[in-house]
Amino acid sequence: MEIAFFDSKPYDIESFNSINKSFGFSIKYFRPKLTPETAVLAKGYPVVCVFVNDTLNQEVIDLLYANGTKLIALRCAGYNNVDFKYAFNKILVVRVPAYSPYAVAEHAVALMLGLNRKTHKAYNRTRESNFNINGLLGFDLNNKTCGIIGTGKIGAILAKIMMGFGMNVLAYDTFPNKKLAEEIGFKYADLDKIYEKSDIISLHCPLTNETKQIVNSESINKMKQGVMLINTSRGQLVDTKALIQGLKSGKIGSAGLDVYEEESEYFFEDFSDRIITDDVLARLLSFNNVLITSHQAFFTKEALENIATTTLTNIKDFSEGKILTNEICYKCGQKRPHCNKEKTGRCFKKEINHGNKK
Ligand code: NAD
Repeated sequence: MEIAFFDSKPYDIESFNSINKSFGFSIKYFRPKLTPETAVLAKGYPVVCVFVNDTLNQEVIDLLYANGTKLIALRCAGYNNVDFKYAFNKILVVRVPAYSPYAVAEHAVALMLGLNRKTHKAYNRTRESNFNINGLLGFDLNNKTCGIIGTGKIGAILAKIMMGFGMNVLAYDTFPNKKLAEEIGFKYADLDKIYEKSDIISLHCPLTNETKQIVNSESINKMKQGVMLINTSRGQLVDTKALIQGLKSGKIGSAGLDVYEEESEYFFEDFSDRIITDDVLARLLSFNNVLITSHQAFFTKEALENIATTTLTNIKDFSEGKILTNEICYKCGQKRPHCNKEKTGRCFKKEINHGNKK
């Protein structure tokens, strides 16, 4: 089984080569991202392995299909960059639904603590022998309220961590998990309540038509003065221009962003000897109360190992004609909670055959 691996970075090559010793696939690593221009590189490869900023729109899917690709193996959880409905009946699409939800939840906490206690500023000051603490005032997390939007794998872990800080946790999810809330001790509330009460709001829902720009000028207006916003999910959950207005007016006290609406050109790349032509990103970078990391929340040793293992297992299952438990349901998009393909090979919503059951 030959795999065309796009957007490969040194750490991908190291982790995949190490795990592949027990699979024995032939992997061709390509540095460019998958785009309509680079899709030709995949010619003759039955499997294409891609990451969050590769393009899998109709044009690319047609090109891959015409060139013999049978499986798109996402080495990530989110799949908003794939037109998976269009791919149905042409190319199968699998993903890595969980590799380390701890990595992402812990990074969200790192952003919160960094922003609150201004460690990014303190670090620069002390390196310049400036030991003054003026302007570094933070607040106790204890007894404050953390609003979590999306209580899946990552949101649930974050809720637990925030409860450990003595915070009140309010959460919103279109499919609330009452058992989880009871176990951890958080409460579900509607979005307006979360906006009204939260000192920190952290986004952990997927990017869908429904969640696109869920944080916009209207929702920001409903938030507490000085709220901290954390986004480790997907950039398009936030209307960045509205966020900038919120930061300028002081409504948003600080923002921790691991993702950005237009990140695909910049994130994961070294631009230190070039000019940033994206004025919105440049404006965001100019705020001293905004902490931006470059989509690194997932980036732990454990996560890389799990990503490589699950991706190669997905490919092995495909090569052996097994049911693909990590295939994206073409109808509903997600596996949980209404798609029961794992157990039955069919989607609950409309009892659709996923077409790959042997
Ligand atoms: P998950 O599928 O376990 O949980 C997502 C939750 O969001 C589910 O409970 C779902 O019901 C809920 N949801 C769906 N639509 C919603 C809506 N409209 N409003 C509120 N909740 C809604 O996913 P996860 O593993 O917890 O990951 C969450 C997101 O984190 C992913 O979709 C991905 O975009 C992002 N992510 C980012 C990184 C990173 O490195 N920054 C890494 C992994 C995942």
